Amino acid sequence: MVLNKILSTIKQIRDLEPQIFLDYDGTLVPIINDPEKSYADSELFYILDYLFRKYETFIVTGRSLGETRRFLGDYNIIALHGGIYYINGTVIEVHNYKKYVNVCNNIYDNRAEFLKEFSNLRVYNKNGGVLFHMGNIKNLDEREKLLKKVKYLGKSVNMDIYMGKDILELRIPCINKGEAIKRIRNTWRPAIIIGDDITDEEAFRENMDAITIKVGNETTFAKYSINFDLVRELLIDIINMK
Ligand SMILES: [Mg+2]
Repeated sequence: MVLNKILSTIKQIRDLEPQIFLDYDGTLVPIINDPEKSYADSELFYILDYLFRKYETFIVTGRSLGETRRFLGDYNIIALHGGIYYINGTVIEVHNYKKYVNVCNNIYDNRAEFLKEFSNLRVYNKNGGVLFHMGNIKNLDEREKLLKKVKYLGKSVNMDIYMGKDILELRIPCINKGEAIKRIRNTWRPAIIIGDDITDEEAFRENMDAITIKVGNETTFAKYSINFDLVRELLIDIINMK
């Protein structure tokens, strides 16, 4: 069974103080159509409390720092794909972060321009990113039109465009989870990285020495793949190892 394989690999590095990097949506909590309601449940809090006490652990997410802290509280968080960090209670912003917050505020303030054309669109200001949620847009032509418009906007404000499940997102350029994790890692320590999304592939690819675990069965750069329902079981086993 894949879980046993992963656990025996982790056992070999258990005493080398591994750092653990966990994605949030689709990894620790299920993906739901209303992204504002992805609160952590009591079981997850229980698991994370133990995990953070026994291992140096980071939540690595594309969400904003404010929202992630609203869902989770005071854990170590790498937010906005690495645009902003919250480590041991200290906030660290990447270069130019404030400039992009202003750009995003501007886009959000002018969202009516998008909403009048795409009535089922939802726009979220991530304070350093803008999320266009297409979960309620079923028409493919409409999605295509929106993509064109967001691409054009991204070019004009010099932001990267990211396309995920039901979402389009403008994000701070040249930032990704892989670089962010590399920045945080102590080079002599092993790492365990778990994530489900395309953005997590950057984390897997940039950290080839790590124990990388993809959640889901899509093609991946990760060494292992597991289903969403096994993630918590795996984390409990990792806790019990120490
Ligand atoms: Mg995810």
